[in-house]
Amino acid sequence: MTVASAPEAPAGLDASEASAPLPPLAARARSTGGSPVRDILAVTARPEVINFAGGLPAPELFDRDGVAAAFRHVLEEVPGQALQYSTTEGEPALREALAARTSVRGLATEADELLVTTGSQQALSLLGAALIDPGDTVLVEAPCYLAALQVFGLAGARVVAVPADADGPDPDALAELVVRERPKLFYTVPTFQNPTGRTLPAARRAAISSVAARHGLWIVEDDPYGELRYDGERVPWIAAHPDARDRTVLLGSFSKVMAPGVRLGWLRAPAQLRRACVVAKQAADLHTPTVNQLAAARYLAVSDLDAHVARVAGVYRERRDAMAAGLADALPEGASWELPEGGMFLWARLPSSYDTTALLPRVLEQDVAYVPGAPFYAAEPDRSTLRLCFVTQTPEEIGEGLRRLGRGLK
Ligand code: PMP
Repeated sequence: MTVASAPEAPAGLDASEASAPLPPLAARARSTGGSPVRDILAVTARPEVINFAGGLPAPELFDRDGVAAAFRHVLEEVPGQALQYSTTEGEPALREALAARTSVRGLATEADELLVTTGSQQALSLLGAALIDPGDTVLVEAPCYLAALQVFGLAGARVVAVPADADGPDPDALAELVVRERPKLFYTVPTFQNPTGRTLPAARRAAISSVAARHGLWIVEDDPYGELRYDGERVPWIAAHPDARDRTVLLGSFSKVMAPGVRLGWLRAPAQLRRACVVAKQAADLHTPTVNQLAAARYLAVSDLDAHVARVAGVYRERRDAMAAGLADALPEGASWELPEGGMFLWARLPSSYDTTALLPRVLEQDVAYVPGAPFYAAEPDRSTLRLCFVTQTPEEIGEGLRRLGRGLK
């Protein structure tokens, strides 16, 4: 139907609201439709719901004064620069500061090895645009960060899951899949993974790095949670491992340590790949907002982000412990979980007769929410799993939420 022959707008709608027939959606948009779980979880917006489903940093812990002062400073002192277009690669002051932070953490980095992105989510999209042709194979962890599955799906990738245990992906299975599938890349969140909370020990990272070197595998190491550690010792990045450093793209983000609303992430990659990502970013958004980049650079120059993160981690540790303390009573006999050493998520497995997707509507009636595990799997899902975010509520609210969860699962 042409626009000219479209029917009159129904009474009460003006002509601009009458829907014209859409052009046919691209195949990739058709194949990556909405998620039924997201629709069910829409009700978690009700204020009475204790929402363990979101992945939201605790808003009362944002350094509002420090961030506000940084924005005020750049808007008052360098408004012409802060409100102007900027380079696609990112503001030099921020790239310098990020390079210094990365170097201090054991991976020598120059400012021009980094591309500032609009959240690390955009870094994933840019890698999808720069590296993935429809039909290419991408290896992911089982289970995997949901929005990464979305990026790879939109890029038209064949997504294949690498079997994993409590220490993360199995290096032997990875090696076999690399030989068999010839993947473009392997995507991993090695530290406090979303959704499982698990961290790959150093030996597992070394084994994966060695697979990468032997078989020419490229790794995307996504690390938005690494700084939120509550116990144990920091494990060095895969990107810093001698076997993998020339074939690993490292992604970072301020979302979990400063504020997700500033939408600041970054990507560290070898020159040629970085340049391809820069071209993709030009097409996507020209550059990440200048004012946010300059404010973050100012914040890093005058505030102590590490001290802030330490304060946040202290509070999050108590919340994790509150969740761990109430879980045995809330979950059915035979359920299991591991205490994560950091991050935001606790992953639980119920006895195999439980289907957490099917149970969710009943649990929501108790005004508490979790995310069922199934959508996090690229292949055959483990339907008895669920993800709980433990950082957004106080210990008291967590206790109450778990009592409701217990009633819902009964
Ligand atoms: N990677 C992982 C593993 C995540 O959990 C998230 C956020 N939930 C992101 C990337 C995206 O984060 P952002 O775009 O806010 O930096």
